[in-house]
This record gives sequence, C-alpha cells and structure tokens, in this order.
Amino acid sequence: MTGIIENSSYWSRVAVLPTNTSSQSITITSPYGQELYSLKLSTKSDVATAVETARSAQITWATSSLKARAQVLLRFHDLVLASKGELLDLIQWETGKPRRDANEELLDVTLNARYYARHLGALKNRKHSGAFPLLISAIERHIPLGVVGIIAPWNYPLTLAVSDALPALLAGNGVVLKPDPLTSVTALYVIDLLYQAGLPEGLFGVVIGDGAKLGTPLINQVDFLMFTGSTKVGRIVAAQCGERLIGSVLELGGKNAMIIRADADIEKAAEIATRACFGNTGQLCISIERLYAHSSIEQEFLDAFVRRTRAMTYQRSIGWGGSYGPLISPVHATRVMAFISDARDKGATIQTGGQLIGNATIAPTILTGVAENMNVCREETFGPVVSISGFANDAQAIQFANDSEYGLNASVISRDKKRAMAIAKQLRAGTVNINEGYATAWSTLGSPMGGFDASGLGRRHGLAGIVQYTESQTIATQNALGFGPPFGLSDETWGNLLTTSLGLMKKIGWR
Ligand code: NAD
Repeated sequence: MTGIIENSSYWSRVAVLPTNTSSQSITITSPYGQELYSLKLSTKSDVATAVETARSAQITWATSSLKARAQVLLRFHDLVLASKGELLDLIQWETGKPRRDANEELLDVTLNARYYARHLGALKNRKHSGAFPLLISAIERHIPLGVVGIIAPWNYPLTLAVSDALPALLAGNGVVLKPDPLTSVTALYVIDLLYQAGLPEGLFGVVIGDGAKLGTPLINQVDFLMFTGSTKVGRIVAAQCGERLIGSVLELGGKNAMIIRADADIEKAAEIATRACFGNTGQLCISIERLYAHSSIEQEFLDAFVRRTRAMTYQRSIGWGGSYGPLISPVHATRVMAFISDARDKGATIQTGGQLIGNATIAPTILTGVAENMNVCREETFGPVVSISGFANDAQAIQFANDSEYGLNASVISRDKKRAMAIAKQLRAGTVNINEGYATAWSTLGSPMGGFDASGLGRRHGLAGIVQYTESQTIATQNALGFGPPFGLSDETWGNLLTTSLGLMKKIGWR
C-alpha cells in the first residue's frame, strides 16, 4: 500500500468496483506533489465485461417503475451531501483545485439528481391525435437505449462522472464510464454512493485507462456515447459513433468571450471576470479566455481586474481558503506556459502572472496586446490565462466575440439588461450569461447546455437531456375507416373528401 488516498479510510469503498484484469497499473501523483494511489488498468476484455454486466443488469432495471428509479437518485442526493467532506478531499487531492470549485461540483451533482428525479414526465407515454381526429389515436413511448458509454475528462471529475449518467440511468439504461485516468478515484467513490442508494449491482460499470486504448472498444459496444473532452478527440469519437450509427453528444472545447459594456459597474465586472477567468484555475470549458472591454473603460477595468487577480491566493493543499491551485499536471502547466511565452515573445504584455510557481502552478495571468500571430489568440489554453482588448461599440464587440471557431459560452456585463439581452441574442454560443461568467447558465438545469460549431454537438441538461437517452416509439391505432376509400367510393371522391376535411380543420382552428 502506498499513497495518501490508498492509506485512507475511504479507499476500501473505492477499490471494490473495477474488476480489471490487466497486469499493468498506474500510480497517480497529486498536483500538490504527493503520491496518491496505484490502480490496476482495464483491458479491452474488461471493457467487454463491464458492458455485458451493465447490459444484463439493465434488463431488469428497465422494467422498474420510474418512481423507483427516481427514489434511487433522491437517496443518492442525500448520500452525496452526507459524504461532502470526503468527496471534497478526494477531488482536491486528484485535481489540486480550490475547495470552492470542488464544492461547485458537489452542488452540480445534487442539483442534477433532484432535477431529473422530479422531471419524470418527459419519459411518460404521451397521447397524440392522428391526421384525422377520432379515426386515429397514437401514443409516443420512450424506451431505454441499453448501455450508455460516458467518456469524461479530468477537470470536473465528480460532475462529469455522474451528472450525465443520472438522466441516462433514470431513463432505464445501464452506464459504463471511462473517466480520465488522472481522476478515477473520485469517479469510483461517487459511483459507490449510487450503489449505496440502491442501484442494482453491475448497472454502472467503470473502466480505467488510456482513452486511445479503451475508447474504441467502448464505443464499439455501447448504444450511445456521451463524450466530454477536447474538440480534437471529439472529432475522432464522433466518426466512430457515426460508423456504428449510434447517437452521441459531444461537449467540447471553447474560447469563451466576455463583453464589458461602458455602462458596467467596473468593480462588479472585475469581480465577475476574476471568477469567470480563473475559476477552477482556468481549467474549465466554459471559463472566459477573451475579455472585451469598451475603450472608454478599458484601462479602469484593467486596473481593477489586475488588482483583484493579484489578490487571489494560492492553495497549496486540500482545504478551504485559496482561490487558485496547481494545474492538473506539470505536463499541462508546461503546455499552458508555452502559450504565455509565445505571446510574450511576439510582443504581448503580461499585466500580471505569467510565471511558473513550482512545477505545476501558473499564477493567474492577464495579457494585453494579443495579436493574430499568437497561439493564445484563437486556441483554448485551458489554463489561467486571459487576454483583454478594447472595442468601440456593441456591433464591434459582437463581431470580436463571434470571431472564433468555437461557440460554447459567453458573457455580457452591463447595467442595461435590455441592451445586454439584445447583444446576447446575437452571440454564437450555446450559453450566454448576463452579469455573470458561467454559473448562471450552467446551473439553470431546465435549459439545455452545449456548444455551437467546434464546441460540440447535442446538449446536456433540460428535458432533452433525459429524452436523448431513449429511443422514441410511436404506436398508432386506426380506430375507424382507413386511408383507403370506404363504402365503395372512388379514389377521386375519397381523395376530395379528405382534402375538403383538411380545409375545414384549418378553418375551425384544429392543430
Ligand atoms: P481529452 O479529449 O484529451 O480527454 C477527454 C477524455 O477522452 C479522457 O477520458 C481521455 O482519456 C479520453 N480520450 C482521449 N483520447 C481518446 C480517444 N482517441 N478515444 C476515446 N477517448 C479518448 O480532453 P482533456 O484534455 O482531458 O480535457 C480538456 C478538454 O475538455 C478541453 O478542451 C475542455 O474544454 C473540454 N471540456 C469540455 C466540457 C464541456 O462541457 N463542453 C467540459 C469539460 C471539459
């Protein structure tokens, strides 16, 4: 036994789930620098076992009542809250994120559990009237797909392990998750809570390891894929899903813009921007990487933003207090530093930050003078790096914000909510937050969340976020007459009768 997590009291709860047969294992080191645990890796045959096990558990699960399934989610909700301390510790050990950001994950998971458990109506049979009233009656059913595959990244290891799985399970499916290898234990721990809440054995499987090795066998055996990760890998998995004709949702990268209008409260805008740019130490798909401030307030805003950013505190280990931490790994920190060095070498000004602290931490960094020839201009850094530039009027701000291959999230800061709304409607982004950076739209679970363009395909959240885990089936009954001519009428007379009745139905307002 080695490592902090492996020696902890909760290891027994996380170590039981995977039945991996590989002789290989990975040893995970925390971004804080300590060794955490070693875990056996899954093989292709472990993927097959996990999918088969979930598939056989799913047969009975699909026959359980919606109410019974919802009860599991509601019990899970309570167990997550009761396990708050251990969950937050685990998330912090694995990711190095500040505890307030880990807590956002916990809030997200519990909100999702409650929202979906209380929105079962979306899965209930719906009656429809046919082309001709009374003659035809129809029902729309929603049948579970079977086994849903989920591939998730490391940045929100709790949220992205289960928040998408909850509606999939509630819809009557089994799930097999492949978390990022760097954050498997948070996923295993929270899935164990689902089992404690009453999930049937084997319904939710986990495979551990490299995406390039396990991704294809997983996609080849599941009935739907929920993928969250980079646009580069999203394109690969989308092609594989297309080949198999299975549905997929792709939640990918972003280069999100915030527009700060001249009428904004400067201090408030700086406070919002600090959280929006550097929340989760910038490792957030919907965090802001491009700030556009109206030229008349650009300098004043920059001063306030730099002051607030410099006041952020470094969190060196688990616990409350700090507002930024180390990045997920030294490799990622090196990648992010390369963006900063490239920008600096090509003439950008580093207003604050820009240096590596230790081997994996980058102080929150604000750049000005960013130009087209710099990589940071258009590429997602996925780190604590933001650039600021000015704009002359709303039309130009919209043009700048939309000038990206991505379209995930955006923000507008203004005292004039009407004007902000008008701008929001012209932004090409799946979510737009007015007077906030990202949390307002993300936490509105009734409304869909996802990206335009290179930021993805499909959506999570909302009623569509549960219905997508089902096949819809229409069963229509012909009650009287038929589509062929009755009573010996000619095709012409019957055809005329049908078209006349259509005219009538429109006149009386029939829908
Ligand atoms: P990544 O695409 O490298 O990895 C994501 C997951 O895919 C991991 O589990 C990885 O093991 C797996 N994977 C890697 N190669 C694979 C392959 N060939 N086949 C199948 N699976 C494979 O992404 P990352 O760098 O770990 O995460 C950061 C990215 O995720 C950023 O671009 C970020 O914007 C994005 N992200 C998006 C959202 C969203 O909701 N839109 C949320 C979080 C993160």
